[in-house]
Amino acid sequence: MIALGVDIGGTSIKGAAIKDDGTLLDYFSLPMDKYASPEMSFFEMCEAINNFLKDKDYKDEIVGIGLGVPGILDKEKGIIKYSPNMPLWDGFNIVDFVQKRTHLPVKILNDASSAALGEARFGTGKNFHNIIMITLGTGVGGGIIIEDELFDGNEGAGAQIGHSIVELNGRQCSCGRKGCLEAYASATALNKETNEQAKKHPESLLNKYPGIGCKEVFDAARKGDPTSIKVVDEYIKYLSEGILNFCNIFRPEVILLSGGVANEGQYLVDRVTEYIKVRDYGYKHSPEVLIKIGALGYDAGKYGAASLFFKK
Ligand SMILES: [Zn+2]
Repeated sequence: MIALGVDIGGTSIKGAAIKDDGTLLDYFSLPMDKYASPEMSFFEMCEAINNFLKDKDYKDEIVGIGLGVPGILDKEKGIIKYSPNMPLWDGFNIVDFVQKRTHLPVKILNDASSAALGEARFGTGKNFHNIIMITLGTGVGGGIIIEDELFDGNEGAGAQIGHSIVELNGRQCSCGRKGCLEAYASATALNKETNEQAKKHPESLLNKYPGIGCKEVFDAARKGDPTSIKVVDEYIKYLSEGILNFCNIFRPEVILLSGGVANEGQYLVDRVTEYIKVRDYGYKHSPEVLIKIGALGYDAGKYGAASLFFKK
């Protein structure tokens, strides 16, 4: 059985043909103009899908198209209810539109939930049953798997774990509240803080790099630069406090980290593990929570979307 899994983002649409045994067969992608009408954007996406499938020998084995869509969706009706970065999409019936033009069954899922489902079924999470996935990218997204089932919230709105508060009256968040995890733990937030601190501390090693961002601040911290150590310590603290909230509520077996900042790999895992292990509620007497990096990286959402058509 083969399905297409498509990850729809603000700057590009990326998809893949994926087999139900987890084999990824081929990729396709196209640029995305978030200011274009949904009819225009998704017409181009359907054309790209039809072209992609045209000469594939497995074309007739495709059982459907799963779409990971940013925003709040009505999965039953196939409608994008609200997509904060793509306001023109609100109310658009994406399922009808794509089914009509590709002649294949279409299912939708929130993009963050889709990535969590992909990691849970085909990635680092496949041997675990209770999983929280946290994506540290432009924002902080994520998904919750409880006893092998995606917890997708009322009406499939998705779990907005990035918008839980880690600092009352803290930094302004894009959602309108202050002190959200996203305002501290996203790659965007870390990038901004790094650049501000580099400006304030001209002597910092950070200013020796050709460009200053997340990668550089972790690198400079490992080399002992005091400004970078401070930025990274603060970052680890807020991210870990957010994670502790999820540990205490959900008691997951594993927390999966994904997105740009997760490229820091084992260093990030070790730092967060060290922080949470002494602060997790009833720590000595509680089951251990593992911190791991998602194995599928940017393909997680494609796997999750395709898996909407696979049997468990
Ligand atoms: Zn927020």
